[in-house]
Amino acid sequence: MQRPKDPESRERDLAGEAYIRQLRATFEKMPHDIPLLLFADRGADNVFAQAARQVIRAFRELSPRITLKEYDLTHELARKHQVTASPTLIIAPDRYAIRWLGAPMGEEARTFLEIMLLVGAGRSSLSEQAAKVIRRIDSPRRVKVFVSPTCPYCPQQAVNGVKAAIERPEHVSLEIVDIQAEPEIANQYGAQSVPMAFANDVLIGHGAQAEEVFAASLQKLEPQTIFIPESDAEQVDTDLLIVGGGPAGLTAGIYAVRSGLKTAIVERQALGGQVALTPVVENYPGFTSVGGKTLVDILVSHALQYTQIFLGEDVVEVQYGSPIIVRTSRRTFRAKSLLLATGASHRTLGVPGESRLSGRGVSYCSTCDGPLFKGKRVIMVGGGNSAVTEALHLFHMGVHVTLVHRRDALRAQEFLAKQLADNGIPVVWDTEVAEIRGEHRVREVLLRNTRTGKTSPLKVDGVFVAIGYEPAVRIAQQMGVELNEEGYIRQDGRHRTNLPGVYSAGDVEGGYKQIVTASGQGAEAAMTIFEDLINPYWMADRRTEAAAAAGR
Ligand code: NAP
Repeated sequence: MQRPKDPESRERDLAGEAYIRQLRATFEKMPHDIPLLLFADRGADNVFAQAARQVIRAFRELSPRITLKEYDLTHELARKHQVTASPTLIIAPDRYAIRWLGAPMGEEARTFLEIMLLVGAGRSSLSEQAAKVIRRIDSPRRVKVFVSPTCPYCPQQAVNGVKAAIERPEHVSLEIVDIQAEPEIANQYGAQSVPMAFANDVLIGHGAQAEEVFAASLQKLEPQTIFIPESDAEQVDTDLLIVGGGPAGLTAGIYAVRSGLKTAIVERQALGGQVALTPVVENYPGFTSVGGKTLVDILVSHALQYTQIFLGEDVVEVQYGSPIIVRTSRRTFRAKSLLLATGASHRTLGVPGESRLSGRGVSYCSTCDGPLFKGKRVIMVGGGNSAVTEALHLFHMGVHVTLVHRRDALRAQEFLAKQLADNGIPVVWDTEVAEIRGEHRVREVLLRNTRTGKTSPLKVDGVFVAIGYEPAVRIAQQMGVELNEEGYIRQDGRHRTNLPGVYSAGDVEGGYKQIVTASGQGAEAAMTIFEDLINPYWMADRRTEAAAAAGR
């Protein structure tokens, strides 16, 4: 005789029944059928095949919309669909290229139900931003998401793949692979920790990603860690427009929005400025040692919680006035104030062969290009913190690097200089590069001793240059912002330039050029801007003074 159920399990049963009723009703209203083809060994020893059969048959009971056809691996349809693994489930092959290798058990049952709902609805349900990115994909993406039934993070990543395959069936195919059922495939891909996603055999995500980040990773075919939302707005009105998405601009964005200012940041290239190219940062307070790119990701994620970022937009024209009109390659901004946090770009040697062989052995970014020179001979030109940090980075990467410096003493901090000696990195003193030679790629440099003037060739595979920066003052100059003798933006100590409503922060002002100082300047500038904007009389007076001074 069955024991009567306790009230709690009776309640659970009732809730379960209500849920199933609701699911049935949902499937009933679905516009599309959900045909499933299950290919599985008949043998009793394949537990995954048996489990798949049971689970999928149970799902089929939910709705007549879900149809299941079962085939043996020897069936001609298995050949037609190139099925070799048992069990393999193919989902709605007339519309999509989605298949599952394994059984949708445990946590994976959630993924399976989600697939049924999405396929039945015939819509990806991607967020608008993620769909926009996926729609930009214009060539095939063969996606593999490795999962396991005991992994609670896997359904999210698998469903990301499903949504992409539903959004772009002509380009995106998906294989969800259960690593327990298919250990050999998992081994081939080194997928020992799930979820792991590959596209065209390239790793695009380790761990569960937000769907926008997954979409960006799939489109770019490399793992992304953050997603910058895009905007279609032709005109953006804002209290503050920040030009430059390095530490100064990003910090200013955080501070300005927290003060209550509507703020936008425009960045034409990569966010993070020079930091994104710095291999390791060892003196940013709070982090003993942190990768430059990692620090940038942290900063950007933080800034995105407050301010909108417009990435990949170059400022083409600024009309100074009230408001300040800034035209970018994509839209127009009307801003009450403008912060120039445009930073600085790397200086070049200006010697014969440098620009011709740039990207063919001449590099300004050891983080980016260093791995290509593993086991090869390169020189690093410069004697400052950048040159030494990057020489150490190359050395630790297995590159045979020699530092070439034009004087007999380094400008770099003592602590860094000591590491050069400790690692036995050779330094050629009192020497500059006179020429870079090579037909298609760097083969040799001509070195000149700055004391004797004597020249000598040196066979090398690469030339890394880290000799400081030039401030990015194009926009400032166009607008009539005053520069100092060194070519940096002149400001009044509180980041106000000679044009009321126009401010500066970070490396474009000169000074110490540390991440922490740039961030500090960004924060200070944002606070000054806030104070100026809430005091309209002060701002109006300054505009009148400036106009009088300029004879306007
Ligand atoms: P830097 O400190 O201005 O040093 C530039 C180096 O390049 C100097 O040694 C200079 O030689 C040399 N140089 C300049 N023009 C040259 C030319 N035409 N040919 C050959 N050599 C030339 O620049 P940086 O190292 O890029 O650093 C920029 C700023 O970022 C600095 O304030 C630095 O402290 C900071 N930074 C800090 C860190 C850190 O703290 N870990 C890391 C990177 C950068 P001379 O010495 O003869 O002038």
